[in-house]
Amino acid sequence: MRGLMQDFPLLVHQVLDHAARWHGRTAIVSRSIEGPLHRTDYATLNRRARALASAAEQRLGLRLGAVIATMAWNSWRHLEIWYGLMGLGAIVHTLNPRLFTEQLAYIINHAEDQWIFTDLTFVPLLEALQERLPRVKGFIIMTDEAHMPQSTTRRNPICYETLLAAGDPGFAWPSFDENTACGLCYTSGTTGNPKGVLYSHRSNVLHGLMCALGDTMALSARDRVMPVVPMFHANTWSLAFSAPLSGAALVMPGAKLDGPSLYEMLDVGQVSFAAAVPTVWLMLLAHLEKNPQLRLPHLERVVIGGSACPEAIMRAFVEHYDTDVIHAWGMTEMSPIGSLANRPTGIADAEWWPLKLKQGRPPFMVDMKITDDAGNTLPHDGRTFGRLKVKGPAVARSYFRGEGLAAFDAEGWFDTGDVATIDEWGFMQITDRSKDVIKSGGEWISSIELENIALACEGVQEAAAIGLPHPKWSERPLLIIVRKAGAQVSAAEIFAHLDGKIAKWWMPDDVAFVDEIPHTATGKISKLELRERFRDYRFPGTAS
Ligand code: AMP
Repeated sequence: MRGLMQDFPLLVHQVLDHAARWHGRTAIVSRSIEGPLHRTDYATLNRRARALASAAEQRLGLRLGAVIATMAWNSWRHLEIWYGLMGLGAIVHTLNPRLFTEQLAYIINHAEDQWIFTDLTFVPLLEALQERLPRVKGFIIMTDEAHMPQSTTRRNPICYETLLAAGDPGFAWPSFDENTACGLCYTSGTTGNPKGVLYSHRSNVLHGLMCALGDTMALSARDRVMPVVPMFHANTWSLAFSAPLSGAALVMPGAKLDGPSLYEMLDVGQVSFAAAVPTVWLMLLAHLEKNPQLRLPHLERVVIGGSACPEAIMRAFVEHYDTDVIHAWGMTEMSPIGSLANRPTGIADAEWWPLKLKQGRPPFMVDMKITDDAGNTLPHDGRTFGRLKVKGPAVARSYFRGEGLAAFDAEGWFDTGDVATIDEWGFMQITDRSKDVIKSGGEWISSIELENIALACEGVQEAAAIGLPHPKWSERPLLIIVRKAGAQVSAAEIFAHLDGKIAKWWMPDDVAFVDEIPHTATGKISKLELRERFRDYRFPGTAS
């Protein structure tokens, strides 16, 4: 017997409709690319998103299933495109401008993007690339006529505001099935070509709801949310959905993500909740350290993920600024949130910090397990490392165009490529990417743990541990350090700091000091590039 409840397809534009109808005057404050702060609200955003959808249908000929790219920072205009085009049944493909140009050309062609909406910032980049993009019909420049660039080499340049002005703000969204695709995001892929993850309306609505829950991000209409994480990095970690569906205000930081600019937005927007990768928070904390009179009076909590959050960052927020930190883990393939470290009841204060540093528990709608190489499930004892596998309605079941099938098994588990432990509380801890784990004498050393402990050493700005070939142990750890400005910390001091905090055989064989550590397009340490840089390095006492 079927239930007698209404058939109400889960479509993402209903999220904006809800925000517009019931939180219509709630603010969206953005730093514009042109310069000044821009203020709007959900009611206005909804009218403009509908106008854009109508103009895109009429003037650009967009229909259900069309793939349209954006290369843009977080702003009100990017949100209008996001909702307007998804509402039309088109697929919004967010491009990460930090990718290499070859990768960008590859994914734009692979996705068969028809048009590209671009911020002024990226006009030169796309101009240089356009000859390699034969299918792209034209570029919509996200500005008004007064700021349109004068250059003439671009194919079919259209002014965003002029296009939008031609649309109907009362446009009625078409209706379609909730499993229709609406978003496309490519993984940064450290090896091989990037692979596309194709989100559906249903998966995004469910994931948005999941992320707003109390023990995920606990969003509400009392929050002012700043997604520092770009809309092009894994679906804004759901915030472009979960903030409006909660009625939370939005603060969009635009192009400037340095410490002083972020501080300004936190202050102007009275931001209560923000989310970003650790490197971004390091820049903010460095700015705060230089200006001890600055406080964070509005910022109640931050979500940190994308790479392991070092203890030093967490302690700085919690102990100096009274801002709570929620450590989160996820992947583009998971929409992206997979777990968060929220405090369970019944845990003593002394026990809490070690758990808080882990990546946490999966919310409802994410299932996870760790297995050995043969696929046997491993125990939740907090010590046994295994391959981390996940399932859920917002987890990919395939990559775009059927690629990367090896990552999905017959029972529907997706192998994340991460290595993790799960403890008795159910708290998962990432110990490594499977390709970054350091294999010494048949045992595994967690590069992430070495880095986190090294980061707590006075004078260390950034740390990376990589495994390099060793004649006896097959691999041994090399610790690569960037010193804080003006700091003199030595290798001996770092060894002394690590001593007693790790097993003896985990002790790095050497410490190398560098001026900077390379990062990937999504802000992670590029171990691949580091291994390449240190290819000819030999540990002291080993033959070349
Ligand atoms: P992306 O799809 O670009 O978001 O990258 C996903 C990968 O980032 C994961 O598979 C992890 O290797 C890594 N990652 C994300 N969050 C964390 C975290 N909190 N700690 C450690 N690694 C993380």
